[in-house]
Amino acid sequence: MPEIRKGYFTEEISIVAPERGLRPNQFLAERKEQRCPFCPGNEEMTPPADLVLVKRGETLLKQTDAEGDTVKNWTVRVFPNQYPVVTPQASPSYGEHPHYSEPAVGYHYVMVATPRHDLPFSKVDIDQWTNILASLQDKVRWLYAQKGVSYVTVFINSGKEAGATSSHAHLQIVTTPRVPPNVETEAQAVQSSLNELGICPMCQVVGAETGGPRQILATDFYIAFTPWVSRHAYEFWIYPKHHQTSILKMSQKEMMDLALMLRSTLGGLAKALDNSAFNLVFHGSSEKKTTKQIHWHIEVYPKISTWAGLELGAGIFVNEVSPENAAQVLGSMSRKELAQMVGIT
Ligand SMILES: [Zn+2]
Ligand SMILES: [Zn+2]
Ligand SMILES: [Zn+2]
Repeated sequence: MPEIRKGYFTEEISIVAPERGLRPNQFLAERKEQRCPFCPGNEEMTPPADLVLVKRGETLLKQTDAEGDTVKNWTVRVFPNQYPVVTPQASPSYGEHPHYSEPAVGYHYVMVATPRHDLPFSKVDIDQWTNILASLQDKVRWLYAQKGVSYVTVFINSGKEAGATSSHAHLQIVTTPRVPPNVETEAQAVQSSLNELGICPMCQVVGAETGGPRQILATDFYIAFTPWVSRHAYEFWIYPKHHQTSILKMSQKEMMDLALMLRSTLGGLAKALDNSAFNLVFHGSSEKKTTKQIHWHIEVYPKISTWAGLELGAGIFVNEVSPENAAQVLGSMSRKELAQMVGIT
């Protein structure tokens, strides 16, 4: 059973989850031409899905697998991870200082982003991205209503170097009984700025980066830019232009605009860096009433170099590409992708 451990004297946490070690390497399986559990036709290889998006004409229907009877012809499929990091059944054992620990209670889901095995995230079209975002809203809302869920982390590992064990495009959703350290650090900064100055520092950043040398792309509702302090070469962030605390607040119109932004920037990234692996994470406010709020956003970390001694040991990130140069390259590629999609040549 997985267990959450907290640092001796810091807020860092780790999840000890030996079951994760049992998951098969799908890349290896593919080389041996074994079946992909994420592909249509192989639904019985995964646990039953509790959210399946199906397109009937122009209408999208939400369905659920019945035991032994899986929904076919889906466009997005969400099911429990067979090798979870957290589980609703974690045994209720707690450790005291300095060996502080608590049960890793939670939910770990896989969302298959497209029925097409050969379609990377960089080529997922705007309609499908909108379907993904709508499914995400649905699942995240449901998860926040479950007992013991303090935070829902949504992320993508794309490519072997980024930690993916399958080449079929998918997202992962992991809940935790506490707010993760990275989000908590941001939330504390937002809270103190709100208290002292009455302004959201993230709104200020959006203002400062708009039209500047680090802007990659701006759409009606979103801006993408490379951050002033980028921990990875070509790292970029996507922020709603106006203060919004959670993806749960996104309207249908905003969702379609975010789909356009994601398609353009991930398409641009793939062109700029020859389909490099990347990680993507959503940072948002917890829905629990007592927690601090942030301005939600997406962070994308291309995986083209390895964190070494200075990064790992000192927390100092050496970046061989300046964020300004990265923005120029990503900007020109992303604008080309966008122009192609909206039909401007
Ligand atoms: Zn597949
Ligand atoms: Zn804000
Ligand atoms: Zn963040």
